[in-house]
Amino acid sequence: MASHPLNFHAVVVGGGLVGKTAALALAQSGLRTALLAPPAAGLPAGAQFDSRIYALSSSSQTLLERLRVWQALDRSRLGPVFDMRVFGDAHAELHFSAFQASVPQLAWIVESMMIEQSLDAALHFQPSLSWFESRAQGLTIDDDAAHVALASGEMLQTDLVVGADGAHSWVRAKMGAKVDRRDYRQTGVVANFKAEKAPGEAAYQWFRDSEIIALLPMPNDHVSLVWSARTEHADKLLALDPAQLASEVEHATQNMLGALDCVTPAQGFPLALQTVDKLIAPRVALVGDAAHLIHPLAGQGMNLGLRDVAALADVITNKESFRNLGNPILLRCYERARREDIQKLMVATDGLQRLFSVPGTLARAVRNTGMALVSAQPLVKRWLVSAALG
Ligand SMILES: Cc1cc2nc3c(=O)[nH]c(=O)nc-3n(C[C@H](O)[C@H](O)[C@H](O)COP(=O)(O)OP(=O)(O)OC[C@H]3O[C@@H](n4cnc5c(N)ncnc54)[C@H](O)[C@@H]3O)c2cc1C
Repeated sequence: MASHPLNFHAVVVGGGLVGKTAALALAQSGLRTALLAPPAAGLPAGAQFDSRIYALSSSSQTLLERLRVWQALDRSRLGPVFDMRVFGDAHAELHFSAFQASVPQLAWIVESMMIEQSLDAALHFQPSLSWFESRAQGLTIDDDAAHVALASGEMLQTDLVVGADGAHSWVRAKMGAKVDRRDYRQTGVVANFKAEKAPGEAAYQWFRDSEIIALLPMPNDHVSLVWSARTEHADKLLALDPAQLASEVEHATQNMLGALDCVTPAQGFPLALQTVDKLIAPRVALVGDAAHLIHPLAGQGMNLGLRDVAALADVITNKESFRNLGNPILLRCYERARREDIQKLMVATDGLQRLFSVPGTLARAVRNTGMALVSAQPLVKRWLVSAALG
């Protein structure tokens, strides 16, 4: 027998960091919110660090502070980045510094699990939040409400469905959005290492042979690797034992940080560019990777998703009281507020990825000369830093 539907102002589908942040922002504004997500799994037994690490910009910090999640993070596991050194594939080098850009830090390096556990703790305190550990499997929309059927059998009725269900979004498919996907034929290989030489508070990035390697600083002389490698090369890297992988990374990074000791198993994530023709449909708004997918070379996907959440929460908080959350005018305001930021980052990350993928001596000379020119222009560097900080 069908049960009576449960009523909410908003239903957030998807429990990645973006979905959980969206649910917390809505619940903290007093809105009856449902979150469809599993709780944080915790680190595997014996693991010191999460292998998923994010470089978070000040816009993400501001949102998480506003939600009082940032304050709950373990300070000893938070790493500020004050300097960034970028190496081209022909001796060009760019140096960005927080001091020169007059900002407190370029980014914060944070483990995914740390944020998720703080979000979960905050969500459990929210009286207006209902947590369903189930997936959405049916969505119908009529003039009065959206109706979400859960795999567990419950039926939810709501003014607004927030699709935060990642790059292969089910909500997006249900709302009939068109997706344009271009596979980079690369895999992001991530792992953490203990480094012989302290990275200090500096992040390093190398562009070499159409691949991009980043080492991000973590506490106690650890570093986090993001190696955007061609798929067939990534498969080989992922098949190596920890000592062999460490030696490959030492070689590829010219032993910048001395000997490396791999402390978390490597994981791989296929990389693609994905654009979506609309972020909204009647009673639906997309946020996070459901709305856009970009190359991780600038470490901006999560930051972009959290800025979606901040924009959606702002539009909802400032709405006139006679409008409900699914009101088309509100949703259009949200979509307008997000278009430019998303577009800019897509063009920038895709452009850089393409620039460093072009083979040949001429292309190499052009891009390295470009880097040298940027390096000599403090104002351009300052602009690049402020663009990256969001
Ligand atoms: C190698 C790599 C490094 C990166 N580094 C950075 C970085 O340094 N900084 C940065 O800002 N970004 C970074 N990113 C990007 C960042 O990881 C993503 O943008 C971010 O994780 C997207 O989060 P999300 O919550 O939108 O999606 P996801 O994390 O994919 O979460 C979606 C959730 O929805 C759930 N779901 C799916 N379907 C349903 C359904 N029907 N019902 C209920 N739930 C459902 C899924 O199970 C999942 O839990 C990186 C990405 C990669 C690949």
